[in-house]
Amino acid sequence: MKTFVYSAHAYDRPFLEQAARKRHELVFTEEKLTLATAHYASGFDAIAVFTADDCSAPVLDKLYTQGIRYIALRSAGYDHIDLHHAATLGIRVSHVPEYSPYSIAEHAVAMLMMMNRNLLEAQRLMKLQDFRLDTLTGFDIHGKTVGIIGTGKIGIAFARIMKGFGATVLACDPVQHAEAVALGVQYVSLEELLRGSDIVSLHCPLNETTRYLLSAKQFEWMKDDSILINTSRGAIVHTKDLIQALEDKKLGGACLDVYEREKGLFFEDHRHAVIQDEDFLKLRSMKNVLLTGHQAFLTREALTGIAETTIQNLDYWQLGYKSPYELHADETFRGSSARASAKD
Ligand code: NAD
Repeated sequence: MKTFVYSAHAYDRPFLEQAARKRHELVFTEEKLTLATAHYASGFDAIAVFTADDCSAPVLDKLYTQGIRYIALRSAGYDHIDLHHAATLGIRVSHVPEYSPYSIAEHAVAMLMMMNRNLLEAQRLMKLQDFRLDTLTGFDIHGKTVGIIGTGKIGIAFARIMKGFGATVLACDPVQHAEAVALGVQYVSLEELLRGSDIVSLHCPLNETTRYLLSAKQFEWMKDDSILINTSRGAIVHTKDLIQALEDKKLGGACLDVYEREKGLFFEDHRHAVIQDEDFLKLRSMKNVLLTGHQAFLTREALTGIAETTIQNLDYWQLGYKSPYELHADETFRGSSARASAKD
């Protein structure tokens, strides 16, 4: 079976080739799937895509006319595909619901520690041979209150680490997970969580109910020196309101692995381009903002998991079976929480 793989980079291609073990013919491009690149997949049976790829209705229409009947998402999140339209066309879609939740949870911790202990500044001063400590004071996570929004696989992995630090963990999620309760996590409302937390970490999917979940009103509720971590999806946070809150010192800092308009920006080399996105430039210039380019998943273990499940999904399809990780049209509206709810 021939699969065309969009957005394939040096970091994930070897893992996909290894997982395919010549069972599938994979043809790679570094380019993203767009209306303009959809024709690359002509003559293929399936495509494999990542989060920056455009799987909107017009692109799906074009893929369909070229014979594509299967789309293997190499991500857990599926906010970038019009599942309803895919179902209408009869294009089946699978995703990778789980691949090392530790990779994302640990990245969130890495960002938090880097910000909290001023490690970037410490490194800069070290290189200048300036060994004064005056600007480097941080705070203990031990004894602090950490609020987790979304206690699915990643949120629970993050809660476990925070418990290990000796923090009190609050959570907010429409589904109360027994595993989180057993860890000593206390479920509260979003408002209580934001008012009571020193650190807030987002681990819910992006869907109609979570878009701009954190906007001006919610930043008002947060403690003035609190730190926000977003390794989930950029649009869960209202970027302009976040910038305002940081400028007004309504927040102590933000650690962002995702950005509302990251499509077309992250995963690509823009060294010779002039970036026009003012919000992005503003965030990047702020001392109390730490940005990474959607790399929380980037561990060997996660890349192995993504590749293995993607190829297994293609195996199922080739053999005429339905993968347990196929997505349905109504999941567009429920978000990946539907799976967590179904499990619990
Ligand atoms: P999951 O489905 O296991 O858990 C999501 C949890 O969010 C569920 O418990 C669900 O009930 C909860 N939720 C849904 N709506 C909510 C709301 N309004 N308020 C609070 N909680 C809500 O998903 P997961 O595997 O833990 O992944 C979480 C998210 O992390 C993904 O949807 C994706 O956007 C993001 N992610 C980012 C990266 C990265 O590299 N930065 C990698 C993987 C996943």
